[in-house]
Amino acid sequence: MLEQKINEFFGDSDPTGFGTGWWSGVLSAFFGVLALGAVVCLHFPQLLTSPELRPYYPMDLIRLLIQTVIAAAMLLGVISAFLRRKKVLALTGMLLALAATLLGGASVPINGPLGDRPAIGLDWFLLDMLLMTLIFSPIEVLWPAYPKQSVFRPDWLQDIVYFLSTHLPIQITSFLILLPATQLTAVLGVPGLVAAVGRLPWPVQFFLAVLVADLAEYAIHRLFHTVPFLWRFHAIHHSSKALDWIAGSRAHIVEDVVVRGFMLIPMMFIFPRDMIVAYLLFVTIHATWAHCNFGPTIKWLEPFVIQPRFHHWHHTSQVEAIDRNFAIHFPWIDKLFGTCYFPKDKWPDTYGLHNEKIPAGFWAQTFYPFTRRRAAA
Ligand SMILES: [Zn+2]
Ligand SMILES: [Zn+2]
Repeated sequence: MLEQKINEFFGDSDPTGFGTGWWSGVLSAFFGVLALGAVVCLHFPQLLTSPELRPYYPMDLIRLLIQTVIAAAMLLGVISAFLRRKKVLALTGMLLALAATLLGGASVPINGPLGDRPAIGLDWFLLDMLLMTLIFSPIEVLWPAYPKQSVFRPDWLQDIVYFLSTHLPIQITSFLILLPATQLTAVLGVPGLVAAVGRLPWPVQFFLAVLVADLAEYAIHRLFHTVPFLWRFHAIHHSSKALDWIAGSRAHIVEDVVVRGFMLIPMMFIFPRDMIVAYLLFVTIHATWAHCNFGPTIKWLEPFVIQPRFHHWHHTSQVEAIDRNFAIHFPWIDKLFGTCYFPKDKWPDTYGLHNEKIPAGFWAQTFYPFTRRRAAA
């Protein structure tokens, strides 16, 4: 298995606590990947950066960020090399940072005007990784709902592979969804609707966008639970035996594309492009947060907006909560359709699939939905 090989290459049997060089090594390699990826983006912006995001980039700030990430990879690599016996992580981080520097670092100029042609969104993937790690890793370490659960729990590496698998090609698949959606709206779109919605105050537009998306998400998510063939894809998302932000990215690529398409197509009929981009940013953060191993809850807000405790009940293997809590933003959508399970102040005891086994490992799980089901014994 791929994740096993990675584990053997980078890992060792030494302790992984703070001060052992493990965290600095992991972070050095992580920042090294980000640094090299960002510099490659500067070299090939037309091919690798999303046309939707380019206009929003404050380039001075981005360049400063790249410089900081390169320096951080180097510094943490040196620290880890001093502290830890096995130096593979530290060397990887430092080599990646060195490669980023030799390729021109943060000062690579962007030549010429860039067109609107489809591109691989490596920029969004890198920013997403950085953003998620910066937001969620500290709060999980500081205020966990399950303090005994380690950041490097079993399967964490597999879930990073999932993060890669669903985030990187999703840029290509998004275009595959957007292209027919654009054609569809050109033919079936109600003239003036998008313009009329666009004249509403920004917060109203945003609320409506989240509502429309969550109703679509509710419908498709419920289908993924009730149609047996679809469940075979979604079972992978439910196979995590412990939840944290990275476990939230464990999803089959087919499910990712179908859900995204199902949400985006109705939205494109109603909302201006800027609002859709804003929603995509919001859902990335909110859906990830809902999976966090994060204990604090704003109690008065619980009936109105989903916080981790609500979605954690969706992931429990306890029979009383199976096929409940399908919404991802508004818990009252589940109340409305009679699918809500939300006991006061309690967190689930167990997570994962109920009476069901799926194979271990990324590739086995990716092929799993297409394999023939064994006859029930
Ligand atoms: Zn589900
Ligand atoms: Zn989930």
